[in-house]
Amino acid sequence: MNELHGSSANGAPVMTDPFGRTITYLRVSVTDRCDLRCFYCMSEDMTFLPKADLLTLEELDRLCSAFIAKGVKKLRLTGGEPLVRRNVMSLFRSLSRHLESGALNELTLTTNGSQLVNFASQLYECGVRRINVSLDTLDANKFRSITRWGDIEKVLAGIEAARAAGLKVKINAVALKDLNEDEIPSLMEWAHGKGMDLTLIEVMPMGDIVGGRIDQYVPLSMIRSRLAAQYTLTDLDESSGGPARYVRVSETGGKLGLITPMTHNFCESCNRVRITCTGTLHTCLGQEDASDLRKPLRASADNELLAATIDRAIGLKPKGHDFIIDRRHNRPGVSRHMSVTGG
Ligand code: SAM
Ligand code: SF4
Repeated sequence: MNELHGSSANGAPVMTDPFGRTITYLRVSVTDRCDLRCFYCMSEDMTFLPKADLLTLEELDRLCSAFIAKGVKKLRLTGGEPLVRRNVMSLFRSLSRHLESGALNELTLTTNGSQLVNFASQLYECGVRRINVSLDTLDANKFRSITRWGDIEKVLAGIEAARAAGLKVKINAVALKDLNEDEIPSLMEWAHGKGMDLTLIEVMPMGDIVGGRIDQYVPLSMIRSRLAAQYTLTDLDESSGGPARYVRVSETGGKLGLITPMTHNFCESCNRVRITCTGTLHTCLGQEDASDLRKPLRASADNELLAATIDRAIGLKPKGHDFIIDRRHNRPGVSRHMSVTGG
């Protein structure tokens, strides 16, 4: 068994799980709500959590700060749509003190981009330098049907506002069978043409949605071999600290990331844990494991109990996940929606 809550050779705090993986990356879902309803993520009539169940922004700050004190270096706020949480900028602002102190290396977010026009400059002022914007298509009609009512113009304007504010933007796109498969080369050329990396994601069986996953899923191995017929792809050795593997595309000069939880298990190098907006810690995206942090958080003003609960959960981090989508397994691999866990 490894040291779970020790310190590194230089005295900095570290969290190491039973498989020797150091946990340095925390993703926090600040709300399960969203202004869109992407069909692979949510059902149209999603029931959201009662607002009273949510941690306050102050509690979220305390929770994030406890993880930073334990060695988390990268913090991503996500959701749901993080920018629809009222006053979320005050959370970014307070968390930015950890960037200033050097305790945190990166504060970032994943967003659908629809509210970015309003928040891009404030994000930059809070020390955010890179963001992920999810965009599965450049076709306005397809965008509307994927998101059920979204307006692509708002997202495109949001992306431009972010770039103008000095934020480096990476585009994330879920590969969807028969929907955007054919558009991936043009999406890539568009992103790379603007100096933005593109990362493709395989659809994962999370939460009950209308229709089966089998109708949505296309393996990225297939997309990659199609791209390889058209472009020169060179594997890159680098990692962003996230689950993507990267290739350089010679013709565009850009980088393409591939997140393949379905066709390739990326668990060996997993450095991440996630917290929901109600304070539940999930140490694996693809397992039902869960630890309640809200109770110890609220039980006392100091962080002793909280820290002990975190250590216990890290000590139980599963080795990996085993998502399957086929005709026999056409139901959620885990019952939580991605919007609750935080993608
Ligand atoms: N609302 C923000 C957004 O869309 O970027 C942040 C939250 S969203 C849950 C984060 C990412 O998860 C998005 O890129 C989205 O496309 C992806 N996602 C949602 N459901 C998914 C699923 N079932 N399988 C794979 N990716 C999914
Ligand atoms: Fe909302 Fe993001 Fe889920 Fe789409 S993927 S419904 S934008 S949380």
